[in-house]
Amino acid sequence: MPYKRNKAICSNCKKHHQTGYHSTKYIVVEDLRILEKRVFLHIPKRYYRCPKAGKKIFVEEISGIKYYSRVTRRFGKQVSRLTAITTNQEAGWYLGLDDEKVYRIDKSILEEEAKKTRSYTGGNSYKC
Ligand SMILES: [Zn+2]
Repeated sequence: MPYKRNKAICSNCKKHHQTGYHSTKYIVVEDLRILEKRVFLHIPKRYYRCPKAGKKIFVEEISGIKYYSRVTRRFGKQVSRLTAITTNQEAGWYLGLDDEKVYRIDKSILEEEAKKTRSYTGGNSYKC
């Protein structure tokens, strides 16, 4: 089992499982560039058999890092800011992503923002 400091929290029952470790898969998530270089984070995700669900396999919950279509939230926000001033195609060209992916990321960010705005104002708000 790869070394991880924190205990895994089951995404099904929200508890730590001492036993039932199944496997680990790494996901690759793109983050903001550092000095013009693209940054990819390799995040291990542990899988556990959850006793609360007839030993079905669940992935651990990853907190602190939110991602959409394999990019971190802060990278997603950058994508979203770019598409506000240019087309998905041009934003994609600049970031080295295909425009389909730019579209998906942008959509997730906008949906999240819309949810937030609604909860602050109770439904009557305008996005500018
Ligand atoms: Zn569980």
